[in-house]
Amino acid sequence: MSDPRNVIIIGSGPAGYTAGIYASRANLKPLMVEGMQPGGQLTITTDVENYPGYPEGIMGPAMMEEFRAQAERFGTQIELGQVTELDVSSRPFKVKSDFEEWETHSVIVSTGASARLLGLDGESEVMGRGLSACATCDGAFFPDKEVIVVGGGDSAMEEANFLTRFAKKVTILHRREEFRASKIMLERAQKNSKIEFVLNQSPVEYLRADDGKLRGVAVEGTKTGERSELDCDGLFLAIGHVPNSKIFKGKLDLDDDGYIIVHDGTATSVEGVFAAGDIADRRYRQAITAAGMGCMAAIDAERWLESQEG
Ligand code: NAP
Repeated sequence: MSDPRNVIIIGSGPAGYTAGIYASRANLKPLMVEGMQPGGQLTITTDVENYPGYPEGIMGPAMMEEFRAQAERFGTQIELGQVTELDVSSRPFKVKSDFEEWETHSVIVSTGASARLLGLDGESEVMGRGLSACATCDGAFFPDKEVIVVGGGDSAMEEANFLTRFAKKVTILHRREEFRASKIMLERAQKNSKIEFVLNQSPVEYLRADDGKLRGVAVEGTKTGERSELDCDGLFLAIGHVPNSKIFKGKLDLDDDGYIIVHDGTATSVEGVFAAGDIADRRYRQAITAAGMGCMAAIDAERWLESQEG
């Protein structure tokens, strides 16, 4: 095995690439293992209109290309592949991918989270063509349209309320009549005259128009088993996110839902391991906040490495 690296960044996306930019400019010669979806969740969105510096907006994948190019420009070594194992039981730490193995003095985890999807047939074909898992990203594409939000938690309530800024009608489609959402969030949605509720119905099929775009969703009554169809221009999934933290279980402290717990900025439960972006943030989940955390993690790693010298 070659000499230990100063820092290995696990996962790309705004947090990882920003960590790469800062760590390479600090001359740490970082190595990044990009993961199975280089660029992360932004590569499955279309226009990003809320990232400062792009007044005309930019396509998510193009934006990630720019982040990546900037990280490479300062010397971040980017490796294809997926990290399959992190060994923090001794120093230097060991990082194993499906192709290689490295030793490293510090680690920045930025593996992100994935929106939970329904897993129905044809999902990837309608994604971005009427189906979205991010109201903040895509809500503005539905002015005066009718949209459906799937879910009964705080995210569904929040997204439904947000979508009423654009859509003329928002239907919350939930599979039960009890809600996980907090009372205050639920009441806010119930009081919103543009929001309607369809309860005890589970989505079972995406309905597509001749041009392939989503035109509605077929649902099945969870109590009756009866199938019916709901028309809509857009369908937003708000059925939770899943942090990509499987390989860190038992190695780093995770909260009950699998998010990495950070303290004092981006420090994790293991000294020398830092976490940034959606893997450690269940609250904001924005490109700009992830990038900010990536910067913090690189600075935290740099200072920690310095403190270990001599
Ligand atoms: P959540 O609370 O886990 O709710 C997910 C919802 O999706 C549930 O109602 C669930 O139905 C439904 N669901 C899951 N899988 C489904 C499927 N396959 N088909 C149909 N429905 C499905 O997730 P969340 O709303 O994203 O919230 C996550 C956490 O973030 C919570 O702790 C929440 O409080 C927090 N959060 C807070 C705020 C805020 O305070 N501003 C905003 C957003 C999120 P069941 O109920 O039947 O299981």
